Amino acid sequence: SSPLLEVKHLKKYFPVKGSRSANLKAVDDVSFYVNEGEVLGIVGESGCGKSTMGKTIIQLLSPTDGEILLNGENISTLSPKEVRQKRRDMQIIFQDPFSSLNPRMKVFKIIEEPLVNFGIGTKEERKQRVYEVANQVGLTKKQLERFPHEFSGGQRQRIGIARALVSNPKLIVADEPVSALDVSIQSQVLNIMKDLKKEMNLTYIFISHDLSVVHHFCDRIGVMYLGKLVEMADKHELFNNPKHPYTKALLSALPKSHPSKIKERIVLSGDVPNPANPPSGCTFHTRCPNCMEICKVTSPKLEKVGDKHEVSCLLYEEQMERLL
Ligand code: SF4
Ligand code: MG
Repeated sequence: SSPLLEVKHLKKYFPVKGSRSANLKAVDDVSFYVNEGEVLGIVGESGCGKSTMGKTIIQLLSPTDGEILLNGENISTLSPKEVRQKRRDMQIIFQDPFSSLNPRMKVFKIIEEPLVNFGIGTKEERKQRVYEVANQVGLTKKQLERFPHEFSGGQRQRIGIARALVSNPKLIVADEPVSALDVSIQSQVLNIMKDLKKEMNLTYIFISHDLSVVHHFCDRIGVMYLGKLVEMADKHELFNNPKHPYTKALLSALPKSHPSKIKERIVLSGDVPNPANPPSGCTFHTRCPNCMEICKVTSPKLEKVGDKHEVSCLLYEEQMERLL
């Protein structure tokens, strides 16, 4: 069967202020798929384009180029009205539940709103559906009559999740859904998301800067750097057999207790370059401990290096052969 979501050569560029020709390439030619029922993790440092990619996939931003196929249908060319209907099938959970909830609306209305917007159900049916989903995330009927500011961070994220799930979507983009929460609350919220995945047969794209959270929650993991996917693999494969020097450095920064094969800390030199002015060749070359002369002039492409494993780095033979 075909994947639930396929992203092909997705690009999202933003114009750079004060420049006529420069673009900030937030997402630069990214291709991947997500199977139904799968959890795909996307990791990378802040500013690598992962949030922009998430928003572009669910069409909160329109792509500069490329295709987004949901169940085989290209949704990147739909009209704004068609996109709004499609959003019933794909929802987003944001990092900061507070700023994404209307402070003047009671929680019941907040959760009900997508149903109203999509024209789903009668008033009574909507009420039952809101109660049902509230119950699934652990909110009581009484709590639904309160306002967002009366809730803790973890409870607000439950509201955000209920709102995202009320319309029975297929695909959820979760953008750092637990990063703003205390560590003690994080696992509660992740467990709710796990339970709901089973109950509702959901598919997640789970965006995070935190590799240990991603390891806990995801089936496959994609690593992003400066708008590009640099490695994509099954999570066990990624942790046991990382290929890309950037992935190795990220893994080396995890606590020793973590099941990663990289035990020596790899400290990257320099900062992440300005995405409006990325380095030539391999965009990681300015920080790569394995940089070769050819890396400064040649951009690697994401290519298969094993079963369920792709990497974008000139160190790997397939890549070098292609160039010779
Ligand atoms: Fe490092 Fe070269 Fe591989 Fe880029 S292509 S990650 S610079 S070794
Ligand atoms: Mg972000």
